[in-house]
Amino acid sequence: MKLTPMMQQYTQIKSKYKDAVLLFRLGDFYEAFFEDAHLVSKVLDLVLTHRQGAPMAGVPYHALNLYLRRLVQAGYKVAICDQLEDPATAKGLVKREVTRIVTPGTVLEDELLEQDSSNYLVAICKSVKYTIAGVDVSTGESFVASFDDLQLVVDFLESIKVSQILCEPILKKELEVNINSVMIEPFSDWHMSEINLERDVAETFNISTVDHLELGEHLRVFGALVRYLRFTLMANDLFLKPPKILRDQSYVFLDASTVDHLGLFSEEKGKSLFDVLNLTKTSMGARLLKSWILQPLRDLERITERFDRVEAFFNDKLLLNEIREYLHAVKDIQRIASRIRYKKASPKDLVALRSTLSVCPYIREVLLTNEYFSQTAQIDCHEELYEELSKALEENPSNTLGEGKVIKAGYDKELDDLRELVYHSEEFLKNFEIEERERTNIPNLKVGYNSVFGYYIEVTKSHLSKVPNHYVRKQTLVNAERFITEQLKDFEERMLTAKDRLEKREKELYEKLCDRVSERTDSIMKLADFLANVDVLSTLAYVAVQNGYVRPKFQFDGTVLLKNSRHPVVEKLVDSFVPNDLYMDRSKSFVILTGPNMSGKSTFIRQVALIALMAQMGSFVPAQEAILPIFDRIFVKMGVRDDIASGKSTFLVEMNEVAKIIHQATKDSLVVLDEVGRGTSTFDGISIAWAVSEYIHNQIGCKCIFATHFTELTELAKMYDGIENKTIEVLEDRSKVVFLHKVTDGVADKSYGIEVAAIAGLPEDVVQRAKEVLDVIATKSELEDKLRVVSSERFKKLKRKKVHPDQAALW
Ligand code: ADP
Ligand code: MG
Repeated sequence: MKLTPMMQQYTQIKSKYKDAVLLFRLGDFYEAFFEDAHLVSKVLDLVLTHRQGAPMAGVPYHALNLYLRRLVQAGYKVAICDQLEDPATAKGLVKREVTRIVTPGTVLEDELLEQDSSNYLVAICKSVKYTIAGVDVSTGESFVASFDDLQLVVDFLESIKVSQILCEPILKKELEVNINSVMIEPFSDWHMSEINLERDVAETFNISTVDHLELGEHLRVFGALVRYLRFTLMANDLFLKPPKILRDQSYVFLDASTVDHLGLFSEEKGKSLFDVLNLTKTSMGARLLKSWILQPLRDLERITERFDRVEAFFNDKLLLNEIREYLHAVKDIQRIASRIRYKKASPKDLVALRSTLSVCPYIREVLLTNEYFSQTAQIDCHEELYEELSKALEENPSNTLGEGKVIKAGYDKELDDLRELVYHSEEFLKNFEIEERERTNIPNLKVGYNSVFGYYIEVTKSHLSKVPNHYVRKQTLVNAERFITEQLKDFEERMLTAKDRLEKREKELYEKLCDRVSERTDSIMKLADFLANVDVLSTLAYVAVQNGYVRPKFQFDGTVLLKNSRHPVVEKLVDSFVPNDLYMDRSKSFVILTGPNMSGKSTFIRQVALIALMAQMGSFVPAQEAILPIFDRIFVKMGVRDDIASGKSTFLVEMNEVAKIIHQATKDSLVVLDEVGRGTSTFDGISIAWAVSEYIHNQIGCKCIFATHFTELTELAKMYDGIENKTIEVLEDRSKVVFLHKVTDGVADKSYGIEVAAIAGLPEDVVQRAKEVLDVIATKSELEDKLRVVSSERFKKLKRKKVHPDQAALW
């Protein structure tokens, strides 16, 4: 098949972007051809057509972002091939080139991004450790971190909800096994090449040497990421803030199952911690809040700094309300600044920036009245830029440039004249006619237009004597003569080109305006971060006021004291929530919580973990009083979960998670176990739960709360001083049970499973029969006796020695 010149151009360009879906601008469409056409038509549900034997499928250019979103979400990389010249004026084949490669981790457009979520692209390399570098291109945020083992990397990536992963080729397989539904792309050799690596990174930040970024072991991975971005975004000058170095010691990294079990985020509205806390006024605030939830702090000084500011708002309701009012006008200037830098900003973006800048001086002024916000004085509110934007931009500009509906009247004389010309030519001609009539004293003088001769002044024969000298004859009619003057000719010329010039001039002015903003994006970014912080801090105070939270205190003697504490989410969902207390310290560090189903075990143990997490992120907590240590990690594990998607048996998943705790928890961790050991037979389950509890208590020594329906485990408390039994009060009234949801000392004396079944509507006959069966089989005293044997010191020594290989010979 012989290819047309245009198809040759296509194949030539496509050969450079084999791993991407190429969308080729053709008239008003972006077209995909050949295999890409098949793919695009399938993913986007488009009709597949053929053109000279070539399959093709296209999307209208104005709806590109809509379709891009779907392609990118489906995990494809898309190369956008644009026309580099105007087809109307181009000679021969229009020049085309790829102007942008779109991947899940490099999108900038609002339509392609989630407002309330960061969009991370993360690169991973392996040397001694796993080194990782990440960016959110849409906001310029970047970070580096390193982890000792892959599991920690995976936990981290899952917790930040990474959008796209780049990795050293050798890591691709193991990452794919561990991470689902995220685009994973290996670096190519040139990304990773040592040659000019430092120079490339330095160039990106416009600095002479990379030394003061203190990248250390992360230089290689960060450099590779930078190169990938420069190529993908087709920009040498990236818009990145210097990377934040995430050290293990700085944050409590939460793994995916903890994030999940704690219900930090949820699809269902109102059912997550994020939903309860997220009364932020801006998307920037919402994103920052998310990252605070995911990365609770471990440094008391930083935690205290946050609390002092939240408390400042908490104590000063006037300040709080005034700030929240101003924040209404604050828009997503992080992403806007980024779009401006990559030349993708729309007039709407500039209006949003103007709206934001309009309130900044007020925010600064109001905050400066409070001692905790004294460094606010250094914030640059860009008043001049605001003035400029106010003068330049229409109140509600059109989002289409070039029609004269973006730049305000009075900003630019030339544009005003052009606009006048294009939109008021009628009026001009009317006025011109009146003026000429008066000047010449010819009452029926007419100004008109004809497509062959253009503009003219028509004078009837009877008045020809009054025609001034400067009128130049153009055309003769039966009864009249038509003339042109310098002024009218001038008007005509201007008119003919005015539309083009209007378009050009408005774009020019707009670009200049964008350039002025672009010069200041670094400082605007600082302002954006500041505003996001103000939003989150004031929101946390607002939520604390609304929900009756208290500022927690931190103590380093291992004390946990919660007085009348509540579950932040469940308390919103039930009519009256029963608050509960908890006390733990170094000598009482392990709680076994037994109680019937539905009594509130899971709620209570999660509420403890949530309160610890909230405290370390800087939020007041739902309690009357709270004293806490600073935890290095928080683990929440739940037994029995169907994880059909990953194809692993539920019990295997459960044990994987328990193994993870055993390996990762330290004496400073908080471990919350909910029905662990449930995924196998009762005896296996009890045995494993028993051994895990002993290990956590004896070897790790961290704070642990274990909710279980295995009442057998309560025997542990008799053996170890550090282990305490707690249960939840139940009121039994004849055959009915009432759950009081009150946590008290002791052991559940009954599981009330049959009573719950009765409440759930099991027929009376079945309930009665179940009771009969229970009476016979519930003689578990034998099992308890056996466990007492397991618990005895003598038994333990015996067993230990037996399994020790070195000593086997002695026996
Ligand atoms: P369990 O884990 O013991 O089966 P859950 O913690 O799942 O019980 O709690 C069951 C239900 O009881 C919750 O969904 C909630 O509606 C209610 N509940 C739990 N704790 C409380 C409480 N402290 N106050 C009021 N209602 C509660
Ligand atoms: Mg439960």
